[in-house]
Amino acid sequence: MFGDRSYGLNGIFSPKPKVVCPKIVTQGLFGAKKQYLTRQYPTKWVNLLQNQTTTNPPFMELRIQNLTKTYSNGVKALDDVNLTIPRGMFGLLGPNGAGKSTLMRTIATLQEADKGSVRLGELDVLQHPMEVRKQLGYLPQEFGVYPKISAYDMLDHIAILKGIRQDRKALVEELLKRVNLWEVRKKALGGFSGGMKQRFGIAQALIGDPKLIIVDEPTAGLDPGERNRFYNLLSEIGEQVIVILSTHIVEDVKELCSQMAIIDRGRVLFAGSPAEALAQVHHKIWTSSVPKNRLQELTAQWPVISTRMVAGQPVVYVFGDEQPDQGFVSAEADLEDVFFIYIKGFNKPTKA
Ligand code: ADP
Repeated sequence: MFGDRSYGLNGIFSPKPKVVCPKIVTQGLFGAKKQYLTRQYPTKWVNLLQNQTTTNPPFMELRIQNLTKTYSNGVKALDDVNLTIPRGMFGLLGPNGAGKSTLMRTIATLQEADKGSVRLGELDVLQHPMEVRKQLGYLPQEFGVYPKISAYDMLDHIAILKGIRQDRKALVEELLKRVNLWEVRKKALGGFSGGMKQRFGIAQALIGDPKLIIVDEPTAGLDPGERNRFYNLLSEIGEQVIVILSTHIVEDVKELCSQMAIIDRGRVLFAGSPAEALAQVHHKIWTSSVPKNRLQELTAQWPVISTRMVAGQPVVYVFGDEQPDQGFVSAEADLEDVFFIYIKGFNKPTKA
């Protein structure tokens, strides 16, 4: 029901009104929804929303419940996954083999689950794949392109395949400009760098004005400059629709996402905001520079999150409520620490 959508309302109207996007205002609200808004928000917003006539509610979220998938070789890739994904950038973080692609492909209606449900707003994703595809933009891990075709022609071709008839020329031109490929629109895709190919991938995913965009491991293999350009593009898009970014790169989530989940072995280990994730390990990270020959002993003794080399000397980061010993000092936690704490299971209470 509409009351369930309070996250979306918060996302739109507070805490930063500047995030209010014109697109949201072009979508419609009626009856009970109007009443709900009238109680919560200034009349001018309600009027703006009420005056529109489209059928898509503006506070759509993606709701995944009890999703389970076991492959024929016995690998349980999804194990009772439950997630609610609001508008904005959502980071799905997990190591290789965690089940990210399986989840992305299931949401994108490219493969079936054994059990569970996925809903996009009111739409039952698993029951109505054709309807979902009209609202979906998908950039898979391996985005194949025809190397000899120009960016313009390929995008135009994909637009035709996606059923765009009216104003196709204007749409293709706008998208090429938006992803900053206008200057190279006549060049063959085979000569594009990794970052350019990914930006082209986003352009094709944006055809059809999708409500849900899925990008699977998009920054793997990009150099820092390309990654930055890609981040900027994604964060711009993420203000308007649901964008799920699947990645094993913690920095992707840190830079871009307002909400995130950590998954491993098909299970959701954490779901919430990066700030909530950091709060859970606040004052629980300890660091010390240690001699190389003590590293193995320390790793056996303490929950070692990570080891970094500083000027040729190992520096260990350890998780714990208490200072491990006097050689350790408290360290500022970052999202990478949180990731390893969850993946290594250090956050679970130890058995007595
Ligand atoms: P990720 O995207 O996080 O790397 P995947 O969803 O690709 O994870 O894989 C999750 C697990 O399922 C892995 O153990 C992988 O080997 C296995 N897996 C993925 N696809 C298949 C498949 N088609 N058949 C059998 N096992 C698979």
